[in-house]
Order: sequence, then C-alpha cells, then structure tokens
Amino acid sequence: MRCRHCQTPLSHTFLDLGFAPPSNAYLAQSDLQRPETYFPLKIKVCDFCWLVQTEDYTDADALFTNEYAYFSSVSASWLEHARLYCKEIIDQLGLNEKSFVIEIASNDGYLLKNFLHAGIPCLGIEPTKSTALEAEKLGIPVLQKFFGELLGKQLANEQREADLIIGNNVYAHVPDINDFTKGIKTVLKKDGVVTLEFPHLLRLIAESQFDTIYHEHFSYLSLQTVIRIFTSNGLKVWDVKELKTHGGSLRVYGCHENDPRPVKSSVDALLASEVKNGLDQLETYFGLQNRVNKIKDDLITFLIDQKKLGKKVVAYGAAAKGNTLLNYAGIKSDLLPFVCDAAKSKQGFFMPGSHIPILPPDHLIKIQPDFVLILPWNIAEEVKAQFAGRLMQNAKFVTAIPMLSIS
Ligand SMILES: [Zn+2]
Repeated sequence: MRCRHCQTPLSHTFLDLGFAPPSNAYLAQSDLQRPETYFPLKIKVCDFCWLVQTEDYTDADALFTNEYAYFSSVSASWLEHARLYCKEIIDQLGLNEKSFVIEIASNDGYLLKNFLHAGIPCLGIEPTKSTALEAEKLGIPVLQKFFGELLGKQLANEQREADLIIGNNVYAHVPDINDFTKGIKTVLKKDGVVTLEFPHLLRLIAESQFDTIYHEHFSYLSLQTVIRIFTSNGLKVWDVKELKTHGGSLRVYGCHENDPRPVKSSVDALLASEVKNGLDQLETYFGLQNRVNKIKDDLITFLIDQKKLGKKVVAYGAAAKGNTLLNYAGIKSDLLPFVCDAAKSKQGFFMPGSHIPILPPDHLIKIQPDFVLILPWNIAEEVKAQFAGRLMQNAKFVTAIPMLSIS
C-alpha cells in the first residue's frame, strides 16, 4: 500500500487494533441472527509526509450507509460550538446576503441553520439521506452527494463558488484526501476562505486516544501534514486555532496560494509545537501500542473485579469511539449489560461487534448502577451534569482514556 497523499510505500504500522466491524454499523434485533463483517483496523504512518492513515481495504460506500445514525444536533455542546463559530466567522469575513457559504458534511443542519437565520445563502453537501432530510426540513438546501473534485467543478460551472467553505470532522473521514482538497480549490472563490476542523494527531498520541480510530476515519492529521496537502493542491494555511472539541482539535483557515492574506504567527507556533513533540520523528509514532494495551487491560480487569463483587456497571454514550474500545477489549454484555444514549436513532439497536443493547437514558436511572462507564470521554462533564442528583449518592463515573479514572 502507498500513502494516500504522497504515494510513498507505507512500511510502518502505527497501531494494530485487530479486526472490527464499522463503528457506525449499529445493528437491529433482526441483524443479530446474521453474520457480521469485520475489517482489519490497522493504522499506518507515512515516513515522508507523516500522514497517519488506515490500511486500504474497502470503499466509502460500504461504510456510510443510509442507516448511519449520527445526528450532530443531539449534542448540546457541539451545537453551541457551531453557533459561536458562525457568529465569529460572519463578523471576521464580513459575510452578508450577497455571500455564499458551503458546508461539506452538513449533517442535520446543526451549523448551517445559523447562516440561514443570518440571511446568508448557503448550501449543504451531505451524502447521508437521513441527516440530509433533517437539514432540508429546516429550509437548508442540501446536495445528497460525496464531495470531491468532480462535484467542485460542477458547482463552479454553475457559478456557485463559495466565499466560505466549511468542513467540520469530514477531512479526516474522506478516503481520497487529495481529491477532496482539489474539490475545495475548485469551488473556492478567488478571495474565499476554507475552514476545516479535525481531531489533532498530537492529542491522539499524547493522550492515547486510540478509540478515535475507526474505519470511517481514514486520516489522522497534524498541521505539518495538512500544510503539505494544501500546498500540493494550490492552497495555503494562513491561520490555525486549537479547539477543545473531540478531545483536542485543530481548525485550519485556508485560502488560495496566491491570496495576499499574510500567514499568522499561530501557524509557525503550532508547527514548532508539533516538532517539539516529535511528530517529525518515527519513534514518536511507535510508543502508542503499549499504552493502548494497558488501557485495555485495566478496563477489563476493572469490569471483572466489579462483577465478582456483585456491583452493577453500565455504560453511557453509544458513540463510534465506544465501539473501538469495546471491540478491541472484547467486552460483551456479560460484563456491560447495556449502554444508554440520548439519540433516539440509536435506541433499540445494538452496538456493532459487542452486540450490547442501546437503551434510553431513563433506563439507567431505573437500574441505579454502582458505576457508569462514560464511553465518549470528551463529553464526560456534560454527561455527569445530566445525571446530577438522579443517581445513588455513592454511584461513580468511570472513563477509560487516557487511563482508567473513577470519580
Ligand atoms: Zn505520505
């Protein structure tokens, strides 16, 4: 296999998580009688451009089916993040009713509705039917397609070039990152701006966030690599911000390479931080597997110990990252009888691989467990606040990453 960006042959494994079904392939009761498809979950690192990437084996269509159940609007903190971003970028770029905004992977319209309310024309691009329909209900125009150079050209030919292109948590999810970047270049207005948000590889390594690794997540990105990809496609990064979302993300601001906009000092500062943390050294990428195995062992030990003591442990948050953790650790419903989730689209379904049932949050209150394992640790505080005063006084919350923590 060659690097998806620079074509260098890939000879270094970053992390091997065995085999797992797609993390978002939630199962209905009737699916439990059928065989389930497992794909290798092995991550490679390119020692030329440092793109960390999943091993090739399947196409995107097999993973993003119409049943894909993630609706962005379910998370209150993510909605607030989107609202604040829109307010800031509208002011910064002076967007108005004559501007045009495109969001790639617009999901259920959680973000574009802010532009709609501000009277700024916008277009969502979203291949997943169920979420796209929700956005259309809000009055947001949506193209139900995958984004790439072809669609970029089509939009440009229709004079629908954008003053602002937004891609939140999509850049890392595209199989062909070069084609996606070419699409941005093609549909960006001469003085337009693109902002992309993605989890920062530096945080993944520093905090052993291996559960953010799943098949649908093709790339694990650092600023140094994104700059290489932008540069080779005629774009430049002129600003970058560190965000707290998804355990630590970057938002890069890009424009055409010949745009007179100066590159802010934030870019050099963050690049220096990546070098200081060894992201340009192969050894940095090799230490994670042992730390991941310890996280797995500690969680299994905890669950077995509590079972022997007769304690009730249940989980909260049927997130994709939870599936990576549970499947790598081989945890099934004998150790974790159910997981609760506020998303109605997941309730009544089963976690892929582990087949742990997903129930409404009220069920957790009814059972009154001794421990609640919060699978999406990035929203742990939000979950704790949600259950404040509704659980037994001595009930405790558990997170497994970056290390087993009970509070
Ligand atoms: Zn490469």
